[in-house]
Amino acid sequence: MNAPVRVHDVPYYQPSADECEIFVTAQANGLPLLLKGPTGCGKTRFVEHMAARLNLPLYTVACHDDLSASDLIGRYLLKGGETVWVDGPLTRAVREGGICYLDEVVEARKDVTVVLHPLTDDRRRLFLDRTGEDLQAPANFMLVASYNPGYQNILKKLKPSTRQRFLSIGFDFPEPALETRILIHETRLDEGRARSLVRLAGHIRKLSGIDLEEGVSTRLLVYAGTLIAGGMSVARALEAAIIEPLSDDADTQAALRDLAATVF
Ligand code: ADP
Repeated sequence: MNAPVRVHDVPYYQPSADECEIFVTAQANGLPLLLKGPTGCGKTRFVEHMAARLNLPLYTVACHDDLSASDLIGRYLLKGGETVWVDGPLTRAVREGGICYLDEVVEARKDVTVVLHPLTDDRRRLFLDRTGEDLQAPANFMLVASYNPGYQNILKKLKPSTRQRFLSIGFDFPEPALETRILIHETRLDEGRARSLVRLAGHIRKLSGIDLEEGVSTRLLVYAGTLIAGGMSVARALEAAIIEPLSDDADTQAALRDLAATVF
């Protein structure tokens, strides 16, 4: 989580609309950006792509319910008998003028928002209470966060006082022609089977919220495509990459198999 990724080859990203332009404008104007959307629909890839395009270091933090402000800011650590201050990923991104991407930000502990607020308004400051430093974020610094509004957890909604500090882009699974293109690019699968996978995904996504918590992600389609392109039978690949990951319930799994049989 601490090493910056400076990507010289720009990772492939297939835009759905004007999200790249919004990102560029937000970054140029020092505005924070919130990406909302289901898991596995391309949010992380988008940030990696944009960071590489803008040639900025990227610090990605996968937030979890134990993640605290000091995990982001830094802490004193014992090194060879000495106590030394070690910057966390957010502090590094601020010092270097890079991008800090907080993936699933709602998962983080409440004290994280206290740190984010002065960074996400026109102050753009990060206060390190332990060292007494008050950092002014340089022009290049950008804060990007993501969250999945689909998770049915009322306790974990982003507070209006936080979300109204961010520009927001709604993400969803790419439309079929784009998702097919992504699958072909990511897996080298032939076009016919890539289209079939995307068609199956369309059927499965109609079930989400009824029998499934969430529809099948582009990520899982990429997994399925990778297995099939690598020579595995379609049935085995769908089982391992789509049916088992989506549900533990035998009836739901049987329904997914039936759906798959209508497509392949
Ligand atoms: P998220 O961050 O939304 O959970 P990711 O960005 O990790 O999802 O996307 C999962 C995978 O799906 C990526 O690794 C990539 O293979 C593929 N993918 C999804 N959307 C796109 C896109 N628009 N362009 C290129 N690849 C994509």
